[in-house]
Amino acid sequence: MESIASNLGAIREEIKAACIAAGRSAEEVRLIAVTKTKPAGLVREAFEAGQLDFGESYVQEFLEKQQDPQLEKLPLSWHFIGHLQSNKVRSVIGRVSLIHGIDKLSTAEELSKRAVQHNINADYLLEVNTSAESSKYGMQPEEVLGVAESLFRLPNVTLRGLMTIASPDPQRARKEFRSLRLLLESLKLAAPDPSKLTELSMGMSGDFHEAIEEGATMIRVGTAIFGWR
Ligand SMILES: *Cc1c(COP(=O)(O)O)cnc(C)c1O
Repeated sequence: MESIASNLGAIREEIKAACIAAGRSAEEVRLIAVTKTKPAGLVREAFEAGQLDFGESYVQEFLEKQQDPQLEKLPLSWHFIGHLQSNKVRSVIGRVSLIHGIDKLSTAEELSKRAVQHNINADYLLEVNTSAESSKYGMQPEEVLGVAESLFRLPNVTLRGLMTIASPDPQRARKEFRSLRLLLESLKLAAPDPSKLTELSMGMSGDFHEAIEEGATMIRVGTAIFGWR
């Protein structure tokens, strides 16, 4: 396998190329390096190659990695990208820059309650199931606008946009990414402050080109950087 630094370099070039093809600026797309199941030493290697944003999916593994002596003093920006259960909210709050995987009003309410207790503001994305696969987490697209008003009213939390995990087939994935972007546009019309709703977290190792062409502002890439899990 190639080194992490060269994998990261290659992906950054691909991001640029996809942005140029889509008429976008490469600064509009943030690369989140997904390190689930990978040891802290590899996170450190990626940091030394200039990577700052990291994504983790499992609460226990995330907490252990964040507190690893090799990493705890580094200025890393952690993203919680897994499905977040309500009873796990208190473990991640205040430790991450963005929570991508909130898919229920009740979980957002719990996040808000904890954020008030901690006297902080927590940014989050709503996870949407755009592929209609029942095995996937995420709110159904047609439910989102119905809960939007309640979400916008919650204190000490800011909804920053939407996240999805698309179908494995890139052509289907492209349609799903497009539907997520359109959903974000509708959500902005309902938002008291649409300028906060800037993020589309979509695209992984196998489909980030399509995601960038369809408007992704954050792509979550694991395998293409760190190898197979
Ligand atoms: C594991 C994971 C990724 C990264 O997937 P790769 O195919 O390894 O790039 C992205 N998003 C989520 C939510 C994940 O759980």
